[in-house]
Amino acid sequence: MGIVIRGGTVLTADLTTRADVYCDGGTIQALGPDVEVPTGTEVIDASGCYVMPGGIDPHTHMQLPFMGTRVVDDFFTGTVAGVTGGTTMIVDFVIPDKGGSLLDAVDTWQERASISATDFGFHVAITGWSEAVSEEMGVVTAERGINSYKFFMAYKNAIMVSDEELVAGFSRCREIGAIAAVHAEHGELVFHLQQEMLRRGITGPEGHPQSRPAEVEGEAAARAISLAGVLGVPLYIVHIGAEQAAQAVTRARLAGQRVFGETLAGFLAVDDSVYYNEDWDFAASHVMSPCFKPKGHPEALWRALQSGNLQTIGTDHCTFTVEQKRMGLEDFTKIPNGCGGIEDRMSIAWELGVNTGRITPNEFVAATSTSAARIFNMHPQKGAIRVGSDADLVVFDPEKSKTISAQSQYQENDFNVFEGTTVKGVAVHSLSRGRHIWADGDVRAERGAGRFVYREPYGPAYAGIDRRLALSTPRKVER
Ligand SMILES: [Zn+2]
Repeated sequence: MGIVIRGGTVLTADLTTRADVYCDGGTIQALGPDVEVPTGTEVIDASGCYVMPGGIDPHTHMQLPFMGTRVVDDFFTGTVAGVTGGTTMIVDFVIPDKGGSLLDAVDTWQERASISATDFGFHVAITGWSEAVSEEMGVVTAERGINSYKFFMAYKNAIMVSDEELVAGFSRCREIGAIAAVHAEHGELVFHLQQEMLRRGITGPEGHPQSRPAEVEGEAAARAISLAGVLGVPLYIVHIGAEQAAQAVTRARLAGQRVFGETLAGFLAVDDSVYYNEDWDFAASHVMSPCFKPKGHPEALWRALQSGNLQTIGTDHCTFTVEQKRMGLEDFTKIPNGCGGIEDRMSIAWELGVNTGRITPNEFVAATSTSAARIFNMHPQKGAIRVGSDADLVVFDPEKSKTISAQSQYQENDFNVFEGTTVKGVAVHSLSRGRHIWADGDVRAERGAGRFVYREPYGPAYAGIDRRLALSTPRKVER
């Protein structure tokens, strides 16, 4: 039986219009004023509300084993937290062991994600380089529906890749029609500064931001951009927290390079003063990498979003409990890195973005949903309200308020970086492929109802024509 959302204002990345939305069979079937529907159709009243494409969080880590422990949210609890906040799809990172098989890792993640309440896709991390990895990338993109690869430029002695591996991996992305993504931090410099902090007896969480100054991000972003530009591969820089990295993306785009930048809801709201809090638990609970940056950076990120130079807002949802964070009581480098955010991403972006006038409601939809769908080649199946698109929809009430607190959250951890923030603008209903799974305070999500979203490789033009020609027609001088 279908569902009709009546009386709302449809809000997409490029349109604001009064319309009803009728869904059946998992997709949008009809759209327009006073749509006629079969008798027995469930009606959702959206008067006074916006009806938007479901949010897409392009950056999550559910159920991830990391730094000697495991993220507390699994694919079910994490996606349920998402739908309560209006996010109906995630793209999670498959992270193979160093030297491990990509295909085996994809299988492992598919198994973990089989309990997901909403649809999901994957990026695959490249944690080392070999002929086998190169070959498997071809299979993953041609046959497994994954067209994006992430390279860690940080986490020395763990999953960091060298420049040599970065160059080989980027080049391979180009060959197979994939987009490269980077965690942009100068891992060697971070490692050096961490040792320096510990040597000076700074073992608490305040050592974390002091070993990750903003230049660490700026340098790595600029380096990745240069390499991607020469090699002719589109590049997506995940979790930009520093103004320097946002500027690197801006410069590259001005120069005509296909580079995209993601920031995080947390980075738009919180600065590094949290690490200097005298409560160790509080400070440590904010430890993530990149770290929150000094005052001024969040505003610079907003400006980059406003100008369109950053495209997406993710979360890097990677939740640990306060108890898990205490693994680093004696040494901040051992604090499990990661914070939550999926539940509050949409409301935080609305409150700090739209309610302040920094971005328009349509830009909000682009940044929280449509741009991710476009960049990762799943638009208009996702990120759109069109006949035939998946019925991933959110009824968003711009007048309703809530105060964020770990006490009342659905996320499994016991901490929230937005604790105490009052947001005006909340998701009151969420539909995942036509199933009404968040109904004004009532969670009706089912374990395993979410499906994998298969993403095709990009066409050759995506790599950028001028650079491709430069590489494909090298000059040889006959002497
Ligand atoms: Zn991440």
